[in-house]
Amino acid sequence: MILIKNGLVVDPANGIEQQVNILVKNGKIAKLLDKDGDLNNNECNVIDASGCIVAPGLVDVHVHFRDPGFTYKEDIETGAKAAIKGGFTSVVLMANTKPAVDNEDTLRYVIEKGRKTKLKIYTCATVTKGMAGKELTDMEMLLQKGAAGFTDDGIPIMNEGLLEQAMAKTAALKVPISLHEENPECIINNGVNRGEASAHFGIGGSPREAEISLIQRDLEIALKTGAVLNIQHISTKEGVELVRQAKKRAAGMGMSNIHAEVTPHHFSLTEEAVIRFGTLAKMNPPLREEADRQAVIGGLKDGTIDIIATDHAPHSVEEKKKPLTEAPSGIIGLETALSLGITNLVDKGCLSLETLIRAMSVNPAAMYGLSAGTLSEGADADIVIFDMAASQTAGSFVSKSANSPFTGQTLKGVVKYTIVNGEIVYKLP
Ligand SMILES: [Zn+2]
Repeated sequence: MILIKNGLVVDPANGIEQQVNILVKNGKIAKLLDKDGDLNNNECNVIDASGCIVAPGLVDVHVHFRDPGFTYKEDIETGAKAAIKGGFTSVVLMANTKPAVDNEDTLRYVIEKGRKTKLKIYTCATVTKGMAGKELTDMEMLLQKGAAGFTDDGIPIMNEGLLEQAMAKTAALKVPISLHEENPECIINNGVNRGEASAHFGIGGSPREAEISLIQRDLEIALKTGAVLNIQHISTKEGVELVRQAKKRAAGMGMSNIHAEVTPHHFSLTEEAVIRFGTLAKMNPPLREEADRQAVIGGLKDGTIDIIATDHAPHSVEEKKKPLTEAPSGIIGLETALSLGITNLVDKGCLSLETLIRAMSVNPAAMYGLSAGTLSEGADADIVIFDMAASQTAGSFVSKSANSPFTGQTLKGVVKYTIVNGEIVYKLP
């Protein structure tokens, strides 16, 4: 048994934001107690959470653990360690491994290796075979064998007819389809915004139209098919507005099938970062302009963007040392996500802590139907305990990779404990 005492419990699913003690028993939330009652503290492992927030464990639905195929960047074990250090208790992996998760064997490998870690690891399977955009996978079989949803993340699906078939299928199967929205035909060099940043480097860059056009196309297909659509890592103000309008139209039809993610880097940084940090701030879609950053924050505020997801994308030092146009896109994110949310959103008065927890736990869990995101009595005891006022310098990552533009920055918010199924899986040293 664990007794978590004196913390401020923030449990948006139950509308709770008050100081209350939590008793954890047999892996579940046993009771929320105003006082100790007649509990014998000696029987419990007591965690004094004075001055800390106690919230449902964080859920990240956009993570790359690179396993199998690219385990020099990250593997399922090191990825899990990075996640629990960041306060995450559940993650959904993307399927662009090698081989890709488009077949039963690879799916089984990922799920079984995930089970051996302290983290709850789920994985998407791919929408198309080999992520080639030509032929759909056996979605029914992959779902039955444990896939959490479907995505070709990293590679946009350009065949509109095929995508419509895929969305009709995922709608029937009632699972999310997550889409990377960037039309490659518009892009000369990916990972760098076309504008100030591309001009600085004298390269073509990736224009906002690449994102806008595909978001527009895919929202229409989702409204038509009723598919649960997750627009991944949204980066443009126009994209946010398209999602806002589509959500309204969906609501008018009695549906709530449209979701959108934003990454901590897209709400924290602009294209200035790629000018300053080079490849360490190269990502797809690229960091955009201040008006875009403000728009994604506005989207989080009014619920247009309902999910914060890291797009944790580890790459080796050698890879990120390559010239800007050759280095791979993406940054790690699991160990800095909560701090960036606290530092750049909550502390600045842009977002309430309750909304942050919703976007980092309640909503992503609900979209995938995961057993997470709540501190209800009887729920799995997946809990994060963090200190909002404490700060730390980003770095000393436990991830296998360290490709982050935030290294060396002092950020507020320190995870003290992560608890999964009632077991303390991380404790701040
Ligand atoms: Zn992506």
